[in-house]
Amino acid sequence: MSILVIAEHDNKTLNGATLNVVAAAQKIGGDITVLVAGSGAQAVADQAAQVAGVSKVLLADNAAYANQLAENVAALVAQVGKGYSHILATSTTTGKNVLPRAAALLDVSMISDIIAVESAKTFKRPIYAGNAIATVESSESIVVATVRGTAFDPVANTGGSAAVEAVADVQDAGISQFISEEIVKSERPELTAARIVVSGGRGVGSGENYHTVLDPLADKLGAAQGASRAAVDAGFVPNDMQVGQTGKIVAPDLYIAVGISGAIQHLAGMKDSKVIVAINKDEEAPINAVADYWLVGDLNTVVPSLVAQL
Ligand SMILES: Cc1cc2nc3c(=O)[nH]c(=O)nc-3n(C[C@H](O)[C@H](O)[C@H](O)COP(=O)(O)OP(=O)(O)OC[C@H]3O[C@@H](n4cnc5c(N)ncnc54)[C@H](O)[C@@H]3O)c2cc1C
Repeated sequence: MSILVIAEHDNKTLNGATLNVVAAAQKIGGDITVLVAGSGAQAVADQAAQVAGVSKVLLADNAAYANQLAENVAALVAQVGKGYSHILATSTTTGKNVLPRAAALLDVSMISDIIAVESAKTFKRPIYAGNAIATVESSESIVVATVRGTAFDPVANTGGSAAVEAVADVQDAGISQFISEEIVKSERPELTAARIVVSGGRGVGSGENYHTVLDPLADKLGAAQGASRAAVDAGFVPNDMQVGQTGKIVAPDLYIAVGISGAIQHLAGMKDSKVIVAINKDEEAPINAVADYWLVGDLNTVVPSLVAQL
């Protein structure tokens, strides 16, 4: 078996989510190659070479891959991936953008969001917003799959000593162009990688109140901040903070849901958290069914008194 893992990165740093994908690749078994497609991304390739369990790193360093345009990266993945039994990427926005295109170019079906490896061709994946788990078997010559990072403990980012090889092949589809990006800069941990997440819902009432009430709690705990879709749709916070079926999937050690009712689509994004705390004025709120601890009360008084005691 030979497995190609597509590295997620920003041309400078290897995203930790790639370590979870390598862990899934190890469960499949076989030689693991990491493909770094970027521009000026030698540092990323060097980091990937240090990752435990990686036997080779392929670096496709070209301006065509600078902004990870899916059309270009997918063409490269399809070209390079022809020689592999498996192609894996993270189940993040980037992975979900690139891999289906690569699978289509290779004329194989793909399996999304695997959460367990049963065998080299058989995987488990959630369906119906995580309410059922399907076991699926691929009959393709190349298995193309995205990996839900939270389902696999990351491998160590040190200990490896893989060789880095350059890929000369340049795939510029010429059908898309990078214009600009707006990235929210935050001192807080990244949502999907954080040990603690504090999330606010419609119950916080406004964007201003979200920050007045929840920032001190997140500050005290060193937590990342998330939100329900209702809070995002109401404009309280940006949509990259949304947790749930159509947002990010998180599984931190501690998830604190404040003023969130616990709709099935929200639970789909956080119910695998190790400890769940709900703060809600409604003692019948559905979130309580998955919460390990719940505080019934007005968040505007409960959260500040919690902060005072921390
Ligand atoms: C296809 C689809 C995809 C979706 N994807 C997502 C998704 O990814 N993520 C997501 O979150 N939702 C998603 N939704 C929306 C989801 O169905 C819910 O509408 C949403 O999660 C509700 O958000 P909420 O809990 O913040 O709001 P509400 O359901 O309105 O709950 C607000 C809660 O705050 C409590 N509250 C109010 N005031 C206070 C107070 N002062 N103190 C304490 N508690 C208070 C209330 O008791 C209530 O429980 C999706 C829906 C669809 C149809």
